[in-house]
Amino acid sequence: MKKNRDDLPLILGLFSVLFIGIYVVDGGQLWIKMSELVFAPLSALPLALGLTGLVLLWYVVELWKDSQAAHEELNDALAKMQNEVEERRLAEEHAHILTATKNEIIESELQRTKRLEQIRSMGDFLAGASSLKELRQIAVRSLNTILPEYTVGVLFADREFKRWKLIGAWGEHKESVHTEIDIESCWVLRQGQAYKDCSSTQMMMCDQANLTTIKSVACYPIFCRDMQFGVLHIRSDKPQEPLLSTDDEKLIIGVCNTLGLHFYNAQLRAELSMASNRDALTGLLNRRGLGNTLKREIRSAVAQKYEVAVAMIDIDHFKQYNDTYGHPEGDKALRFVAEVLTENTRARDVVVRYGGEEFMLILPNTTKAEAESKLNTLIKTVESESKNSPQCQRAITLSVGVACAPRDQRSEEALVRLADVALYSAKKLGRNRVVAHKSEPQDKIIRSSART
Ligand code: GH3
Ligand code: MG
Ligand code: MG
Repeated sequence: MKKNRDDLPLILGLFSVLFIGIYVVDGGQLWIKMSELVFAPLSALPLALGLTGLVLLWYVVELWKDSQAAHEELNDALAKMQNEVEERRLAEEHAHILTATKNEIIESELQRTKRLEQIRSMGDFLAGASSLKELRQIAVRSLNTILPEYTVGVLFADREFKRWKLIGAWGEHKESVHTEIDIESCWVLRQGQAYKDCSSTQMMMCDQANLTTIKSVACYPIFCRDMQFGVLHIRSDKPQEPLLSTDDEKLIIGVCNTLGLHFYNAQLRAELSMASNRDALTGLLNRRGLGNTLKREIRSAVAQKYEVAVAMIDIDHFKQYNDTYGHPEGDKALRFVAEVLTENTRARDVVVRYGGEEFMLILPNTTKAEAESKLNTLIKTVESESKNSPQCQRAITLSVGVACAPRDQRSEEALVRLADVALYSAKKLGRNRVVAHKSEPQDKIIRSSART
């Protein structure tokens, strides 16, 4: 039908040319005869025009129908295209969400890796720490890198585990973090477990939390076995429940446990070293504990231009004391002498149980004359107090040898040797006395050093 309609203008045109040709050639005779025969009452031309008009009308109608169909087709195509565009937009949106999620996962993985690396390097530093003090500093720095976005306070126990003092704090409200806590005031220390509180859900049982600014706290113990080394205190001015995400909390508990283990090891090491550096009977430093103390004191004396005196002290006839009153009584007497020496010397002086019934006294910034006088007073104190002390069975006397650095000697070994020689002289001279090494006159020393 559409094909016929498309050919119509051509057919119509041919007919028109044919009719007009015949009409022109025979002067309209054929047309007149035909119209006289068939359409006598009608004029031939208007009929032809009428027919042509009808055909044209039909043609226009068909064209309109086609244009309507094309319009619909166009609309369909447009709708289809819109659908495709929408589908593509949704797909892009989806892809975008997927990319964002992927980026989030990558970011959180990177964060995790970073934190694991921080924890690993914290472990390395902790393992290399040489003292409890250094451990505390490493712990504070490491926790600061792991929890930089919170207000945090890190508190550590004192030597006696009686008070926990603030060693490091950071964050917006760091000034409000308490500087000291004890077992009565801290839930973490009392219960040995984490304490988490949020003012919007609970009563804030912790007195330490400053209720005016703080809305949430989370505290974690740094402990091992029954030793509470420290408390990690985290606070926020927002009522966040929980304050830390589950992952962060797991991480922090792990870090606190690692710290606790390192503190425990360091504590054991310190106790062991203390035990090996101290004499068990008197509590004084032993020779091992003396270490380089004398060398250091001589160096300071030289640098600061003063004298350091060394006294070697030996209990007189102590074998006889033991033989007479028994070894346990001898031990009591040794403890007594150690106490008198400690109580009657300055904090800066060093008292050492050098071995057996022999003690060493290091007196920094003391001339030989001052040392002699000081030691004379000391041996008199020991003698007089031992007479009345229940720790002693009879009066205890001491013999003492004194030497000074740098005046007599600059080397530690030589100085001790001189003091020993002086002690031997004191024994030979009848005991219960102080003998100082006889220094060469200053001008002789200057002359001999000028020669060398
Ligand atoms: P001197 O006046 O010449 O120093 O005579 P001394 O008897 O004190 O010296 P000696 O070296 O002959 O004897 C030292 C004694 O000290 C012998 C030893 O049993 C005793 N002694 C050493 N260490 C201890 C200890 O830890 N406890 C007790 N009870 N006695 C000790
Ligand atoms: Mg002796
Ligand atoms: Mg002796």
